[in-house]
Amino acid sequence: MNQDTIAAIATAIGEGGIGIIRVSGIDAIHIVDKIFKGKVSLSTVETHTIHYGKITNQDNQMIDEVLVSVFKAPRTYTSEDVVEINCHGGVLPVTKVLERTIEAGARLAEPGEFTKRAFLNGRIDLSQAEAIIDVIRSKTDLSLKAAMSQVQGKLSNDIANLRNKMIELMAHIEVTIDYPEHDVEEVTKDRVVNTSKEVVVEIDKLLENSEQGKIIRDGISAVIVGRPNVGKSSLLNAILRENRAIVTDIPGTTRDILEEYINVKGIPVRIIDTAGIRETEDVVEKIGVERSRKAMEDADLTLLILNAFEELHEYDIELLKAIEEKHAIIVLNKTDLPQKISKDSINSYLKNQPIVSLSAKEEEGIEDLYSEIERIFLSGQIRQSDFSFVTNTRHIALLKSARASVLDVLQGIEQDMPMDILAIDLKTAWDTLGEVVGETVSEGLIDQLFSQFCLGK
Ligand code: GDP
Ligand code: ZN
Repeated sequence: MNQDTIAAIATAIGEGGIGIIRVSGIDAIHIVDKIFKGKVSLSTVETHTIHYGKITNQDNQMIDEVLVSVFKAPRTYTSEDVVEINCHGGVLPVTKVLERTIEAGARLAEPGEFTKRAFLNGRIDLSQAEAIIDVIRSKTDLSLKAAMSQVQGKLSNDIANLRNKMIELMAHIEVTIDYPEHDVEEVTKDRVVNTSKEVVVEIDKLLENSEQGKIIRDGISAVIVGRPNVGKSSLLNAILRENRAIVTDIPGTTRDILEEYINVKGIPVRIIDTAGIRETEDVVEKIGVERSRKAMEDADLTLLILNAFEELHEYDIELLKAIEEKHAIIVLNKTDLPQKISKDSINSYLKNQPIVSLSAKEEEGIEDLYSEIERIFLSGQIRQSDFSFVTNTRHIALLKSARASVLDVLQGIEQDMPMDILAIDLKTAWDTLGEVVGETVSEGLIDQLFSQFCLGK
């Protein structure tokens, strides 16, 4: 249990309506009581109650009018005593109130430290803590849904059930090793085979939609290529206009790779703006196919734009060939003008890539483009699912590794390996699954995961 009490601003700093300072720890109530003037002393109030009063400075002058919520352990965010001070949302009151809690004995919290305490105190497991980061960062309604399901412990439960199954089996094996009578061993072997197969099936179920889960959580990157004047900028602008970009990514990224997320039917799509799109057309000409190829290499999806009002150009044909092996969509732009490129003429160079006709200028047909992106990356079934699929790359890797260890067990049985060797592989799988929920992880990893949080969470 942590002995010190931490404090931080829990709301975004700015001129919001209210700002919240969260204080957590053994002295939380006592500390806030020292700087709070209200009708009652906070040390006497019931848990989960709200109190009106003021926060005062050392000279007893009012800093701000506040509402203070008192939550007593253990039914709180961190499982410790928590006090939340709701004050006016300007930068000044919020910082002043925070300073007062520090003067009164709290320590400034590190990023993620509240959630870390919830984890260390056993209220949530690691996969739930990670999902809290995902909730904060979720880019679409769909990614939020997936993250919320994980916060609520769906994955945690599945993992716990698997591990229980395995630990029963491990206990059984122990007995066999201690009392090596032949018939006991035969029964145990059957059991190892059956349970291991069950575990593999369950892990496969979790992994089944993980590719899509990862897409929902992390999004995909798309690049727009095409020769000058086909309408790349127009299409990008049309998409951004109607879509309202979600995030304008990492501050300080270099200007020539501008990143913006758009929401395509719940899939966060980051459009990689090859420097060319917003530069002058003769620069694009110079950049040429090579640059496009490079950009395509780094992207999950290529949108190849053709100007359907002109015959296919040799440069178009080169690009068509370049997308043969990629996730790509061919966009026939300028459908508001007479059409000179037919789908058949494209198919004589390239089959199997989807073709969408649209007009960037008239903003017509863009929805068809979205449907095509959805068809490539998300199967419809995922929306109807219970959202218990895995989304996090760390979890996916661990599940795959645990699965491999269980397969080793099954192979070991076939090769008549001794029970104590099988027990080692089973234990490895059990440990690996434990890493998902944080039961068997190193402190270093925990620190690293929590440092990704923002302050006050
Ligand atoms: P980029 O060089 O590929 O980025 O092409 P731009 O987006 O700059 O567009 C080149 C020209 O084509 C501009 O004059 C646009 O207004 C025009 N254009 C783009 N999309 C359409 C369209 O769907 N229909 C028509 N008629 N013109 C378009
Ligand atoms: Zn352009």
